[in-house]
Amino acid sequence: MRRIAQSETTPEAALSGQVSVDLSAISDNIKALKQRTAAPHFMAVIKGNGYGHGLVDVARTAVAAGADWLGTAQLNEAIALRQAGITVPVLSWLYLASQTSATIREALEYDVDVSLGSVGQLEVLAGIARQLGRPAVVHLELDSGLSRGGARKEDWPELVAQARKAEQDGTVLVRGIWTHLAWADVPAHPGNAAAVAEFEEAVREAQAAGLDPQLRHVSSSANILDRPEFHFDMVRAGLAIYGLAPADHLDPADFGLRPALSVAAPLVMVKKVPAGTGVSYEHQAITHEPRYLGLIPLGYADGIPKGISGRTLVQIAGRKVPVIGKVCMDQFMVDLGPDATGIEVGHTAVLFGDPAGGAASADDWGAAIGSHGDEIINRIAPRLPRVYESGAYECPDYQEAASDVA
Ligand SMILES: *Cc1c(COP(=O)(O)O)cnc(C)c1O
Repeated sequence: MRRIAQSETTPEAALSGQVSVDLSAISDNIKALKQRTAAPHFMAVIKGNGYGHGLVDVARTAVAAGADWLGTAQLNEAIALRQAGITVPVLSWLYLASQTSATIREALEYDVDVSLGSVGQLEVLAGIARQLGRPAVVHLELDSGLSRGGARKEDWPELVAQARKAEQDGTVLVRGIWTHLAWADVPAHPGNAAAVAEFEEAVREAQAAGLDPQLRHVSSSANILDRPEFHFDMVRAGLAIYGLAPADHLDPADFGLRPALSVAAPLVMVKKVPAGTGVSYEHQAITHEPRYLGLIPLGYADGIPKGISGRTLVQIAGRKVPVIGKVCMDQFMVDLGPDATGIEVGHTAVLFGDPAGGAASADDWGAAIGSHGDEIINRIAPRLPRVYESGAYECPDYQEAASDVA
């Protein structure tokens, strides 16, 4: 089954390159991850447009595969899920607390759970909830060392006391308590155990204040794979559901996980050049012998990092060839070597995808530029069409699929 996501996309547009998303990989990955945890609840984290894979497609696939929670950073993405007919619980953890926020109001009306990390946020949520005549359902966030969202431990007693008061007023309902670990991607780091101890103390303080949070959650992908003692009532899985490496030492394939997303483009030109030919702007690469060059119609406007030149191999007709010369805005060159026999215009160049098929992985690309696969994938431009190769639910009719899943 194949479906091109953007309605304006013609087959010709897809000829300049495309992103393929194999939803069955996401489905299989979630099922494999669920086997690795005894936590009763499983959140699929789909922030950042489903890590670039497509928000609603990933959400539907995740729910069909057994994720009973969805997580986004932004409220707008949570609202988009509701508008697409997705009814499972959703938690969002990033918003500007303002009494006049239409977004918060809409999120609460749509039964989106929101994170709560300060007394200031609590006052805003309680105020909006009072207008709506229904409590805001919240997960209290402890800042256990990331210094991002959440309340620090010295501010925690005041937060739980105020949250308890708001519960008694009927403006807030504390469903969960959570934290996100500063050393999440390094499961063996002692900072994790220290943060989890702080978290457990924070849970005890909340209970002592009269709160009864049902969901304690701490772990993201790396700790799902490596630290079962941190799983509590729910795990929050991002990278791993997309088949991306959650930590440098954790190879997704070792856990039966595979990448869902690949990027490919047709070779649009092949040419022979003599020795001493400079390639691309400023001739940072110069041929030392007669070579064949190939032209790929993707560039940094598509999210191809400039830093990738000379650092990764592109797969064409079963061969692996290096990116050569500066990456341009819409195109880059590959070095096909002294002999391009068997390589022709129109052949597909796979930039990255599932390494089981011989291609580089997004993680390889990330490592090549000192980052990780998720940054590579998230930067792939929206202008590239997403093609859904297969799915855990029937793709062509969205409405029907939604009612199946709900
Ligand atoms: C991104 C994120 C996750 C998922 O992390 P992965 O390492 O991608 O699994 C979980 N929780 C929070 C709060 C996040 O921001």
